[in-house]
Amino acid sequence: MPIDPICKSRVLPDSQYSTEYGGETYYFCCPHCKSKFEELEKGTIRLKRSLADHERISFGKLRKEIIKPGICTLCGACASTCESITIDNNQPKLIGKCTACGVCYNQCPRTITTEEGLIGKIRYAYGASTQIKDLKGQDGAVVTSMLAYALEEGLIDCAIVTVKSEEEPWKPLPMVATTYDELVQSAGSIYSHSMTMEALMSAIKQGMRSIAFVGPSCNIDAVTKMQKSPYGFLHLFMRANILKLGLFCMDTFYYEGIREFVNSKDMRLEEIDFMKIRKGKFEFYIDDEIRSFDLSEFDEYRSTSCSYCTDMAAENADISFGGVGTPEDWTTVLARSGMGYEIFNEAVDSGYIKSRDLNKNEMDRVLNLSRMKKVQMYGLNKRKVA
Ligand SMILES: Cc1cc2nc3c(=O)[nH]c(=O)nc-3n(C[C@H](O)[C@H](O)[C@H](O)COP(=O)(O)OP(=O)(O)OC[C@H]3O[C@@H](n4cnc5c(N)ncnc54)[C@H](O)[C@@H]3O)c2cc1C
Ligand code: SF4
Ligand code: SF4
Ligand code: SF4
Repeated sequence: MPIDPICKSRVLPDSQYSTEYGGETYYFCCPHCKSKFEELEKGTIRLKRSLADHERISFGKLRKEIIKPGICTLCGACASTCESITIDNNQPKLIGKCTACGVCYNQCPRTITTEEGLIGKIRYAYGASTQIKDLKGQDGAVVTSMLAYALEEGLIDCAIVTVKSEEEPWKPLPMVATTYDELVQSAGSIYSHSMTMEALMSAIKQGMRSIAFVGPSCNIDAVTKMQKSPYGFLHLFMRANILKLGLFCMDTFYYEGIREFVNSKDMRLEEIDFMKIRKGKFEFYIDDEIRSFDLSEFDEYRSTSCSYCTDMAAENADISFGGVGTPEDWTTVLARSGMGYEIFNEAVDSGYIKSRDLNKNEMDRVLNLSRMKKVQMYGLNKRKVA
């Protein structure tokens, strides 16, 4: 029998007072306990979850991310919560033993420490992989499988996806996909900007009204702005229901830059079967061979806009997908809106996708990558000032 987290009394599971949070349902004895929980306990649970069992956080992390880049506001929160810290010469300094309790880091107004602050609002987090025979994707082919389910069930008229140009190999080409074969063609990641909005507009002009849209956060944000801003094209002039499937993203590279790099290493784009970025390496697969290069070698080809982007997890999507966290051939899935959650789970129930809960280590890897993306702006500003 569930226990009311506020008054600790036992309640019936069919209590009319319940709320969902972090994938769990909480039950209450009365509306008073429920509203108290909503006011107080959610924040506490979130903070405890982010602190409990986390990697140990020392003063060094606060120094590296906040103090050294010069974005400390000298509010004194760190010093006031730890006797080992003092403010000296306009800087917080360690003057005693640091037990790596993480309190200073978690009090600082300039750090981002909650799950929601790092990856946006989520309903549920999964590890997932396709159940469709012979379908190959970038990771678990879950994006393509969910689109296949939605298309075959008639939930969407089309999907806005990205395929490789036939004329210029590995150049991203946005496409309005209306068949399973076209979806299969789009599976996999192309690490350059794709002008997906063009295809979205074209689909709407063709009269399509239920549309799935795939892209990283900058693309998802374009759709969201068109839906929500006072001048939003999509709610003022054109009406369409759009299911936004976001892709995790740390960077993209200019197509011409990737081509130049590949040529300089005696490879040709047309012979590359697959590209993957992982663990600081850019990998190129040619037949059975993998050529792997340090990602820093691509710095000069990185899209400048990506240095200003702080949203790794596509926070405005209905559902987001990435490779980080889960093992090879699996996709990390963050279900956000009711629509994203429902359609994903229907695809699971219908046998298109297998899924399980994302475990804590996997979620930590997602949070860490997202934290890197959020704090990179600080480093960038530091370089500008220097
Ligand atoms: C530019 C880029 C950078 C990424 N960086 C990261 C990262 O740093 N960390 C991480 O964990 N995951 C990253 N991802 C996401 C990851 O590569 C996979 O897309 C995701 O895990 C889904 O895998 P899947 O096998 O389920 O998808 P699949 O079933 O293979 O489907 C992939 C979908 O991505 C779409 N797509 C491919 N390229 C583009 C593009 N350039 N623009 C818009 N849509 C595209 C295709 O249309 C297709 O619908 C990135 C993806 C892209 C496109
Ligand atoms: S608050 Fe904790 S982590 Fe920060 S300096 Fe003090 S002991 Fe170290
Ligand atoms: S809590 Fe953060 S912003 Fe405030 S003084 Fe310490 S480091 Fe600076
Ligand atoms: S890093 Fe940000 S701006 Fe760059 S492609 Fe990815 S989502 Fe877009």
